Amino acid sequence: MTRLQFRYLLTPRGWARDRAVAIDEAGRIEAIEDGSGPWDGTLAVPGVPNAHSHVFQRALAGRGEARHGEDSFWSWREAMYALAARIDAEDLYVIARQAYGEMLASGFTSVAEFHYLHHAVDGARGPEQAEAVVKAARDSGIRLRLLPVLYQLGGFGRAPGAGQARFVHERKDDFLRLLEALKGHDPGLAFHSLRAVAPETLSGTLADVRKLLGNDIPVHIHIAEQQREVEDCVEATGHSPIDALLDAVEVDEHWSLVHATHPRDYELRAVRERGATIVVCPLTEAYLGDGLFPGRDYLAGGGSVAVGSDSNARIDAVEELRWLEYGQRLSDQARARLADADGLAVSLWQRAGVGGAQALGLPVGTAALGAMADFVVLEPHRSSLLGHEPEQWLDALVVAGSGADIADVYVGGRRVVESGHWPRAADIAGRYDAVVKKLMES
Ligand code: ZN
Repeated sequence: MTRLQFRYLLTPRGWARDRAVAIDEAGRIEAIEDGSGPWDGTLAVPGVPNAHSHVFQRALAGRGEARHGEDSFWSWREAMYALAARIDAEDLYVIARQAYGEMLASGFTSVAEFHYLHHAVDGARGPEQAEAVVKAARDSGIRLRLLPVLYQLGGFGRAPGAGQARFVHERKDDFLRLLEALKGHDPGLAFHSLRAVAPETLSGTLADVRKLLGNDIPVHIHIAEQQREVEDCVEATGHSPIDALLDAVEVDEHWSLVHATHPRDYELRAVRERGATIVVCPLTEAYLGDGLFPGRDYLAGGGSVAVGSDSNARIDAVEELRWLEYGQRLSDQARARLADADGLAVSLWQRAGVGGAQALGLPVGTAALGAMADFVVLEPHRSSLLGHEPEQWLDALVVAGSGADIADVYVGGRRVVESGHWPRAADIAGRYDAVVKKLMES
């Protein structure tokens, strides 16, 4: 058993002083008691669940920023396909080690990996690519929820294109075979989007996957990310995407809808009533020019929300939370959108923790009995925290700081980042540098 002691701990009821956290062999919080030191850190908050990542896309960060006519999501997607075609399982491992190390150091302690780079470069089928991601997560120390992605079409009613070849399982049975091979890694399920999976097949596929993996698995889907996608969906199905989804399958609290950038008001009301989670990826939605999640009523009404680093162009849990709030400020022309009477960051952090736990289907994101002992620790003397008492540090961090201000990070009670540094970071960075340069040359 491990015991960690903090001067301040953020619990579901707010700040608690001088706490000792007892952690069992499985990394779960067994007890929270009075502590008397020695202290393992000044201020500890639950690690943020990252509810949406495509880890290989980390290698595209900073590329494709020059203007060529009307650059859009769709031209970026072509560049992403060109990269994806070249990454082998070893490359993927190195890219994922770098990205997962950065996630941990910036405050994410768990990640839902929306994995669709399935087949080998030569087209061979098997679990090797997914296993490279699993191994990278294990070696980094981040808690992983692997979401193998079903991807069948190249657009509404269209056959997949050459750029999508590595993602596609045309036959459901081939995809089920992959899930069977990955079963030991406790995967959930993702449908890529309604562009890539025909709505009328969702329900039957989900039933088959639940037979294999259980009824409680998390189920994710990209939805209503781009205006053109909404228009195409209306043309193909007669419904806008969220409507088409709700019509096609029983959406409940196991479901996470990623982006939902262009919904209708009644669609968001229905999502909230069904208890599903919306995963907002503010930095990527800005990076790709998707738009702003119109969340005023959804968020004010208590809708479940989580954040994701998605394209991993910039990996920072603190910035994702800041821009979840700032996006709403910009669209509402008002402040304190996700704040309560005590401040912004506690409610924001707790909300992303609870929503993230629901999205990952794991007991994470909260410092409570039975939850995983995943903590982010802050220490004084970071410039963003200067002049504040510890109870205000989190507001100061979210508004004025970044993930770089985080000191230590624990996953399951084990320290995986110490004073901002993760183990073997220089070695991984060197390998990552070489892999990306090789991929961009070839
Ligand atoms: Zn995505």
